Amino acid sequence: MRRLLYSDYETIAKKYRDNIFKNLTKTHPLKNLDDLKKRISPTPHNGYQKYIDYIDEIIKNFEDEKNPEDLLLVKPSEVKKSWDNYKKSKSFCENDFLGKHKALFLTQKELEEAPWDDQNDKTQFNDAIVDALRYDYVRDSPYGFVSYFNDLNINACVYCNASYIVNTNIRGKTPGGKNRLEIMGRYELDHYLPKSQFPFLCVSFYNLQPSCPFCNRWKSIQDSDFNLYTDVKNDLDPFEFELNQNVITSLAIDKRENVRNILLNCKDQNLKTNHNDVFHIEDLYKSFDDEAEELLWLKDAQTHGYQQNIIAVFGKLFSKVGMSLSTDQIVRLLYRFYANGDIHKRPLSKMRLDLAKKLKLY
Ligand SMILES: [Zn+2]
Repeated sequence: MRRLLYSDYETIAKKYRDNIFKNLTKTHPLKNLDDLKKRISPTPHNGYQKYIDYIDEIIKNFEDEKNPEDLLLVKPSEVKKSWDNYKKSKSFCENDFLGKHKALFLTQKELEEAPWDDQNDKTQFNDAIVDALRYDYVRDSPYGFVSYFNDLNINACVYCNASYIVNTNIRGKTPGGKNRLEIMGRYELDHYLPKSQFPFLCVSFYNLQPSCPFCNRWKSIQDSDFNLYTDVKNDLDPFEFELNQNVITSLAIDKRENVRNILLNCKDQNLKTNHNDVFHIEDLYKSFDDEAEELLWLKDAQTHGYQQNIIAVFGKLFSKVGMSLSTDQIVRLLYRFYANGDIHKRPLSKMRLDLAKKLKLY
């Protein structure tokens, strides 16, 4: 729900680009793409050239540290902007992504065709590109995305901020039968720009958005407008949770089933509608009324001057056992969000932080 700045993730994105396919030789994406071309080229045919050009354009711009246009690091927001420009004007703009990579523009119908020399091969072109680029490896291998996930410092679904997503170490076996710890990602990888329409972005770092299985499933039915990364600091927090006006006035949760106490605000009305339509956020957060109620109790305690006492007493209690908690840590203990506002570290912290601010608790 909160965006990340591209510039803060450049180092990890470059590490991903330089290493992700290092262990692959026989099934490296570049080799697979070459093989894929051979499935098309033996039979020159009207229209077949565009598929070869498409593959060549990926090869030319893939896993190349000297190439500023490397597709593994391309910003999907730039790709989307150029696609929207094209849809509006029906022409390529020379300086944007599509203008520079015209061969990567195929219609959805063209992407779903099977342009193979073997007429019995019904594999769609977009699926073949996703296979060739080894999305399966990025998603499933212990050397895939899981190896880079911890560097993102994200522990909650990027769409709903309501479910934990984490790497866990599990006991596994080596091929020789020895015990070893393996990393397992308890999340799914969602593509901001869908791989059916943008198969050349299926393994691009910034296009992979870790999410809970529910959000990923809902998004497979309807496109989301929420891009996790941005270049603009003012765009970091498009959403804000709010309490129903009656709750603010009465400082009590309305327990009736059909009343939404926690509401989602967004300056961009289209984004708000889309986020609610795709991920059912306000309906989901109806289940967290009890969390909001606890903040109201704390508001009550604050009104009666108890909260400062709690902070003072907690401070003393912990110092007795040799610990000293900072005010930020006590805020974390009381409200269960990080005082620096990092809502990605813990589920529901976006809601708690926004409501605590609204209630002037914090
Ligand atoms: Zn989610």
